[in-house]
Amino acid sequence: MANNYIYEFGDSLYFNITNRCENNCDFCIRHVKDGVSGSELWLDREPSAEELIAALDGYDASKYREAVFCGFGEPTCKLDVMLSVAEKLKQLGYRVRLNTNGLAELKYPDRDVVGELKGRVDCVSISLNEASAEKYDAVCHSAFGKAAYAGLLNFAKRCVQAGIDATLSVVDCIGAEDVAKCAEIAAGTGARFRVRKLIEKDTEY
Ligand code: SF4
Repeated sequence: MANNYIYEFGDSLYFNITNRCENNCDFCIRHVKDGVSGSELWLDREPSAEELIAALDGYDASKYREAVFCGFGEPTCKLDVMLSVAEKLKQLGYRVRLNTNGLAELKYPDRDVVGELKGRVDCVSISLNEASAEKYDAVCHSAFGKAAYAGLLNFAKRCVQAGIDATLSVVDCIGAEDVAKCAEIAAGTGARFRVRKLIEKDTEY
């Protein structure tokens, strides 16, 4: 395995810090690909914060639109590493985005995860995926079961309240009726709402 922890994709710099996830979504890109944009993203070892921060010397913040914590698993499975690296990225002048399943507050019930993200992460993109807890559970097979859906919506709401730019997203393949329901659900949290084209699974993860 190549252990590609940091890779360029489009005009952004991506961080691949874990392959773990508490979901097992039917549509997860990991079921069909080994990586994106020519970078193999399966890891045989998770990186430490120290080695990621040391590696940042090789990159120029002014070249990138943003730094993104994203796949090939759920970045908040390595929450402390993510927070340390995000803090350093902010010091270096990067805009920082977290792509997440939004389940971190369920995973760390004794921590104020949103409070810890504030100041380190500028925006979060949260996968809403479906229009109900039942439908979400049927495709995402979360370790948190049907409670995952309310958990991710609460996470979105708390991010908005903390002043973090939060977006809930769905893929258009769920159909127009459910997309409309999801838009309403997202509006109830105060987060932005984004509908991605199915093809984007191959172009942005
Ligand atoms: S939440 Fe994301 S990383 Fe986790 S299984 Fe679903 S698509 Fe894959």
